[in-house]
Parts: sequence; C-alpha cells; structure tokens
Amino acid sequence: MIEIVEPNRTPTATLEDYSIDTKFAAITASLQVEAEPLRPILDGRTIWMVNSTSAGGGVAEMLPRMLRLMNELGFDVRWAVIGTDREPFFHLTKRLHNLIHGDPRADRNLTRDDAELFEAVNRENFESFKKHLGPDDVVVVHDPQPLPLGKMIADELGLLTLWRCHIGLDARTDATKAAWSFLRPYLEGYRHAIFSVPEYIPGYLSGRASIIYPAIDPLSQKNRDLPMHKIVGIFCNSGLQEAYEPVVPEDYEHRVQRVMPDGSSSVPGEFGLLFRPYVLQVSRWDRLKGWEPLLEAFVRLKREYWASSETSMEGWQRRRLELVRLVFAGPDPSSIADDPEGLEVLDQIKSAYCSLEPRLQEDVELLLLPMESQRENALIVNALQRCATVIAQNSIQEGFGLTCTEGMWKQVPILGSLACGIRQQVRDGIDGLLTKNPEDADEVCANMRSMLIDPALRRRMGRSAQRRVYDEFLVFRQISRYLHLVSRLIQDEAATASHQPGAPPASSG
Ligand code: UDP
Repeated sequence: MIEIVEPNRTPTATLEDYSIDTKFAAITASLQVEAEPLRPILDGRTIWMVNSTSAGGGVAEMLPRMLRLMNELGFDVRWAVIGTDREPFFHLTKRLHNLIHGDPRADRNLTRDDAELFEAVNRENFESFKKHLGPDDVVVVHDPQPLPLGKMIADELGLLTLWRCHIGLDARTDATKAAWSFLRPYLEGYRHAIFSVPEYIPGYLSGRASIIYPAIDPLSQKNRDLPMHKIVGIFCNSGLQEAYEPVVPEDYEHRVQRVMPDGSSSVPGEFGLLFRPYVLQVSRWDRLKGWEPLLEAFVRLKREYWASSETSMEGWQRRRLELVRLVFAGPDPSSIADDPEGLEVLDQIKSAYCSLEPRLQEDVELLLLPMESQRENALIVNALQRCATVIAQNSIQEGFGLTCTEGMWKQVPILGSLACGIRQQVRDGIDGLLTKNPEDADEVCANMRSMLIDPALRRRMGRSAQRRVYDEFLVFRQISRYLHLVSRLIQDEAATASHQPGAPPASSG
C-alpha cells in the first residue's frame, strides 16, 4: 500500500529562515527569480517524489527539506512511500543495491520469480496510488525499489516519469551488469533518469540521463553553525567531555562510547578532545571507507616524527605533529546489530588499535556514536567536524561521500581519495588533497603531513571548500536543477506533441 507522507511532518527550515540569514539571502533570492518563469510550466501539476522509506537513510532525510522549499516557492510537490509486508521483496531490492555497488558476493542470478515479485509488489502500490494522480502530474521515482511502479504509471496513465538513482559504481563488473540488465525493461518506460555522478550512468541510458548532485541543508542539525558554548554543551551531553561546569541542555539519553586500549568500551569522561588538534573520519564501519590504511598512515606520521630530528620545521609545526590525534567515529555496534560485516570491520579496526604501543594508543581515538536519536547523532557529528583540523575520507570506493560535503561546508580541508564520489566534490590541491591510492599508507601519510604542517594552506583550502559547497552542493542548487529539468522535459513533450501530424499549430505566443 502506498503511503502519502504528510507535508511538513518533519520540522525543517523555511524559505524565510534562509532568506534572513546573510549567508543565504542572495542564493534564496536568486532561486526565487529562477522559479518565476518555471511556475507557469508546472502550474496545475503535482510533482510526486516516490521512494521506499519515510525514515532512515539519506533520501528520506533530504526529501522533506526539498519538498518544503519547493512548496514555498509555489510548486506542488508531494511525497509517496511504497510499502509491503512481503519480506522477500526487501531481500531482492537489497541484493539489487549490492549488485549495483559491484558486490561480488551478491547473488547475480536474477530470475523470472524475482521479476514477478518485483512487479507484484509494485502493482499493489500502483493500484492504491493511481487515484491520487492527476492527468498532468510528474512522477520522480527514487532508487530501484519502486522502479516498476514508474513504468506502470508511464505505460498505463501516460504520465511523465523520471527515475532518480542515488547509487552506482564507476566500473562495469559481472555484478553491475546483472543488476542493470535486470532493471533495463523497467527503465524503458521512463522518459529520463537522474544520477549523482556521470560514471554511474549505464550505457543504455546515455542521452536520456542528467546529473543532479546530492546536497546538504545548511540549517540542518548536522550542518548548522554552532556557537562555542553549544559545541562544548554537545561534547558534555554526549559524554565526550567532562562537564566541570553546568551546561543548559540535559544529558543525552545515549552517550558516545570510547574504545579503550584493551578493546572494551565505556563513556569517555575527560580525555581532552577539545584541547588537541585531530584528523577526523566519520563513516560507517565499512572496509571500503579505507579505515585501516588511514590508521597505518597516521602511525607512520607519528613514528617518522618521533624518529626525526628535523630542524627545518618551526617549533609550532613540531608541536602540532606531536599533539595531533586521529579520531575515528562511526555507529555504535548496537545500532548495526543487523550488519555482521560492519561489526566485523569494527572488530578489525579495534584489534589494529589494541595492538599499537601505548604511546600511539594515546593519540588514536575510536568513538562509537549513539544512533537512537537522529538529532543527537547529527549534533555530535556536527560538533566533531567543526573542531577537526583535517577531515579524512580515505575511501577506496565512494558513492558520493556526504561526509566530505559536510566537512567542506564547515571550512575544514579534506584529506580524500580519488574515489569517484569524492573527486566530484573535492578539487585536488584546492579544497584538500586527494590520495591516488588510499591503500598506500605512505602516500596518505605524506598528504596528511603536508596539511598538518601548513595552516595557511589549510585555511585557504577550507575557504575554497566551503565556497565549492555553496556553489554546487546545497539544497538550493539541487532544487533549481530539479525544477529546470522537469520544466524542460514538459516543454520538450509539448513541442513533440505539437509536431505530431494532425496536431494544432504551435502557438507563436
Ligand atoms: N553518519 C552519521 N553517524 C555515523 C556515521 C555516519 O551521522 O556514525 C552520517 C554522515 O555524517 C553522513 C552519512 O552518515 O551524513 C554518510 O553518508 P556518506 O555519503 O558519506 O556515506 P554512505 O554511508 O552513504 O556510504
């Protein structure tokens, strides 16, 4: 059964909230100007966003923010979520997700039965959805789960449908080929597809696909400015800092856990996180995030520093290398109990940490972030990112890498890799440094060192990085790209219709 999500169910910032902020006044004003000529084209049409969950995951987080702003700009945009209680459907779509990411362990044998299940669930949703659809509506379907639904809408109701794919891999493997050939017949019904990165577009969609970058909301809990006392409050509330003075908000219900040298974990208490510079990586515990080579690079940096009697460096540069820490932050294991691979990767990182000599252990922190409250988690990530000297995203493979976008927005330079999603955002030498081979600890170490000893470089990169996000990866840009694309497709359709034999002459209006 399809669920129509109530508009404004999640409290998000309004157009006015952005307009009164000096940073966003110009960008929202220009969005309003851009929207003006598009409104008549979209008048009388609802743009439907359809996905498979109303809570959890990046798409469900971003949609209410986009919808609110688009509605305030005068467009009728609504959100529908497909549902089913058939468990095997989600196993199938999870498998498709893994295959699109090129996971060689995912079963590539997609059968007729799989197709029947995929279609049957979408057919049920189509039956309950069609009464909501008007004759001129536009439907944007997100990700593979509701893919057949869009084809049914196009074929049987003749509506304009677009497919927005948030995932992909910049290589063709047996796994990706299996997924894309399974999905192909459904995609044939669609007018247009949208991807995050050009490399992800399957060959058969070239010519009818566009790029819309993912984006962040600069007024969300994860990205909004935090005054100093708020940062200190978040550190205290979450257990990252001992509160030796009272703070206004109450303690968070769930605290950050810190992995101890023996591998156990406990609420940190005082460990001076606010006092020392740190290189931060926040991510899921996934091998492809390059955790272990990053740790190895940091260990190398420290050992080289201790072994050298380099005199070419200033005293403060040496102090920074001496004091710098590496902080790894990712989800608390209780929140990933259904992800055995994640737990395994975390165990590997923990044992690499436990086997370090005590002097190095003092410089490395493994933090397990509580995920029960989305708000608290977002504020903790925000505060950690704002206090970081460098943000690392040493991914071996990366779909897009919102953690880079988040760090860049906070003017923190990025120690990244050339992984596909990251190189779309971070310009090597401008917004950060990109390691060619994130598994080469020497190369990662050299880049980390260059950034740590050069504050002027970091400041310049941090500023460019924020500017880059302002120009390309904020919600305003994303909305503008959607509105322009949908309007163009509607106009193209009208132009094609008017060239059909027997059509009335096009107005010269
Ligand atoms: N994240 C988080 N808490 C964590 C780990 C990650 O809130 O403990 C967030 C992170 O801030 C980012 C998202 O999860 O917004 C990860 O998105 P990204 O595109 O970087 O990677 P993905 O997980 O989609 O591969």
